[in-house]
Amino acid sequence: MRPTRSSDPAEVIVDRQERVLSITWRDGHHSVYSFDDLRRDCPCASCNDARSKRLNSRDLLVLSGPVLKPGEVQITNYRAVGWYALNFTWSDGHDTGIYTYESLRANCPCEQCVGAEAAQ
Ligand SMILES: [Zn+2]
Ligand SMILES: [Zn+2]
Repeated sequence: MRPTRSSDPAEVIVDRQERVLSITWRDGHHSVYSFDDLRRDCPCASCNDARSKRLNSRDLLVLSGPVLKPGEVQITNYRAVGWYALNFTWSDGHDTGIYTYESLRANCPCEQCVGAEAAQ
């Protein structure tokens, strides 16, 4: 048995209606992530690359495939990656991002977590 940590999820809900990912953690904390934010912050290598290019030269961002606008992003499929991460297939066909629970928990957008970070 692997020891449980507070960054382990107790419950994961992908709500396609509201377009949010909702995670309840083992320590009872609750996080809600919008699909828009998750897709924008996709941790895969090509998105990292695209984001860093966008920082350097604003108008050279060309994403392959249909470009999604905020408000249109949908998750068409998702699966657990071992014990440690989630993988989503987005409505633009992109599916290479591995979202670890650890980074999801670290980037929890709730007021409590964002406030705690700002106070440091
Ligand atoms: Zn990506
Ligand atoms: Zn939080």
